[in-house]
Amino acid sequence: MSDTYLELANSALGKKLFSAMGLPEPVALDREDPEQPHKLIGKVLLGKAKGALFGDQIGDFLQTTKLELKKNLGDEKGHLIFDASGIASAEQSAQLYGFFHRNIKSLKPCGRVIVIGLKSSAADTTEHGTLQRGLHGFVKSLAKEIGRHGATANLLLVDKRGEAAIEAPIRFLLSAGSAFMNAQVLTAANPVVAMQADWQQPLLGKMLVVTGAARGIGLAIAEVLARDGAVVIGVDVPQAEEELVGTMRRLGGLALPLDITSDGAATLLRDFCTAQTPALHGIIHNAGVTRDKMLSRMTDHQWNLLIEVNLGSVQRINAALLETELLDNGGKIVGVASISGIAGNVGQTNYGFSKSAVIGMVETLAEPCAARGITVNAVAPGFIETQMTAAIPFITRQMGRRLSSLGQGGLPIDVAEVIGFFVSPQAAGINGNVVRVCGQSILGA
Ligand code: NAD
Repeated sequence: MSDTYLELANSALGKKLFSAMGLPEPVALDREDPEQPHKLIGKVLLGKAKGALFGDQIGDFLQTTKLELKKNLGDEKGHLIFDASGIASAEQSAQLYGFFHRNIKSLKPCGRVIVIGLKSSAADTTEHGTLQRGLHGFVKSLAKEIGRHGATANLLLVDKRGEAAIEAPIRFLLSAGSAFMNAQVLTAANPVVAMQADWQQPLLGKMLVVTGAARGIGLAIAEVLARDGAVVIGVDVPQAEEELVGTMRRLGGLALPLDITSDGAATLLRDFCTAQTPALHGIIHNAGVTRDKMLSRMTDHQWNLLIEVNLGSVQRINAALLETELLDNGGKIVGVASISGIAGNVGQTNYGFSKSAVIGMVETLAEPCAARGITVNAVAPGFIETQMTAAIPFITRQMGRRLSSLGQGGLPIDVAEVIGFFVSPQAAGINGNVVRVCGQSILGA
């Protein structure tokens, strides 16, 4: 589904017209080049507060990339990174203010602001923890100021022993793949397994399952994982077999037509995987449906069917996989929630329940899975241009798009790229995170 307003705003004539009329002018976002993904380009200004814990380490690994690390941007434009982990008193917060006050005008269009902080629980004093919590509000507010230029701001919090895990999220945030991830807080913790890093083809030789892979976001996930070297096992309902088989053939993957709510589906899926590989790298629980109705008019069938697809089958598949050692030592479980599961939505009590429970799955499974070397994370997409959102009435659809700081809806690939990051082996310290991919939608923010 194309966004005519966004296209017009970025045309030569539209630019003049929109500016004369004082209309919002959302910027067309930079996205990964499919031929050369994970390319890090441009200039980066790296600032550090006094007592910053990670700035030197960040400077060291940025030197190994093609990014140009600058001490001063002057008249040039680039990305801005600030290590605020040392800020431990109200007075010291002036260092954060000072860095961005001086440099925010040097942020490039579609540029990135990344603030590094400490998870409050990892701070040594209550005052230090208190100040670090302030970074959430700072980043979310700054994101609202820069979004109209297509730029984003995100916060990376480092947990105890999480310093070994910060390179992957910083690289991801600086890449075009994070285009629609805005105003989010990622936590880097002690890696659950030893990490290997192949920044170009992180999934080479790895096998992953994607449910709902025949179309929409699931199709984009399968494409991104295959681009990154994976063999994808695509699952979708038997009615979508033709599209699924065609796609999987194109991507060099395997098609498994299967209704995940059918009797025995979880064991069938597990046995299919076991027959293919002794070590499954991950599963992305993407298949999902909506059955919108006001609660008083919702039928039992609308409630039950939705809960079965979005939640019951996810739990059964996890249980079947975790009964074996298929995912142990490096495996990834990724849920697909929704901002409806965070903010709630009229007519979506069933959907909101199921998607909130997906967040519950992350909260409850992450710790026990970490002990087995498995990470569990989820994305919570906002308005994404798919057949699901094309069915939304025109006015609501326009509002859904414009109510984000970036002034537009996301594309399936935006969700897929965040998932690609979650399942990359070098993201072994990213566990228990739920990341909204919504361009900072005001819903539930
Ligand atoms: P979509 O309807 O385009 O695709 C969903 C896919 O899941 C379809 O191919 C469908 O056949 C498959 N599927 C449904 N029931 C299944 C079953 N029982 N067994 C196997 N496969 C089944 O939807 P989408 O927009 O691509 O959404 C993908 C996921 O993202 C869903 O979980 C959805 O809730 C979530 N999401 C989407 C948006 C959005 O804006 N599009 C926003 C938030 C969350």
